Amino acid sequence: MTDNTTSNENNANDKHKARMQKLKEKVDSRIDSATDERGLLIVITGNGKGKSTSGFGTVARAVGHGLNAAVAQFIKGTWACGERQLLENAGVQFEVMGTGFTWNTQDKEKDIAAAKQVWEKCKGLLNDNNIDVVLLDEMTYMLSYKYLELEEVIAALNNRPKNQHVIITGRACHRAIIDLADTVSEVQSIKHAFDNGIKAQKGIDW
Ligand code: ATP
Ligand code: MG
Repeated sequence: MTDNTTSNENNANDKHKARMQKLKEKVDSRIDSATDERGLLIVITGNGKGKSTSGFGTVARAVGHGLNAAVAQFIKGTWACGERQLLENAGVQFEVMGTGFTWNTQDKEKDIAAAKQVWEKCKGLLNDNNIDVVLLDEMTYMLSYKYLELEEVIAALNNRPKNQHVIITGRACHRAIIDLADTVSEVQSIKHAFDNGIKAQKGIDW
């Protein structure tokens, strides 16, 4: 190795160190200034796969820390989802739309009644100081189909206990909910196995 190479390497190392030092200072100062502590409203929307699994992952994370969580599912599942079978055993309360809304929905009145029934339970959860995390899975559709009243949902979210976290999943989330949320992620579909004729897989898709 020539002296020249060594000094070039040293130079690059110094530059890298200086860059990392600057980055560390920036991150540290952002961490220091993030002092607020309160319940978050999180929205996971978009057309890609990963919204409900993200919501359930957060519930599992919370339960792992000993927090109390509850889940409301606004779509009648064709299959019992794996998360329910796991999390109910861990003490997570589930409110599931037993009848009504599916992808090939036929009876609008019945669907609205089923949505309202789950929503009544949600209002209780959103008013319960003992529940730390509430997952409202597939709720966005209830607002896009106008099965639930936007104003009522917003009021319940605004009036919930200060430290309660809420996660809402589903495609095409209403703008007003996005505006209200603290954290919003849009899952984009790059490709999905279903497009290539692969059927939904147990443990992966439900
Ligand atoms: P997951 O529950 O796997 O996180 P998701 O909540 O993001 O999915 P939904 O729109 O709720 O997606 O759809 C539920 C089902 O549809 C799942 O079985 C999922 O694999 C499948 N799915 C999700 N995105 C797509 C897509 N872009 N094309 C086809 N099927 C999809
Ligand atoms: Mg989903």
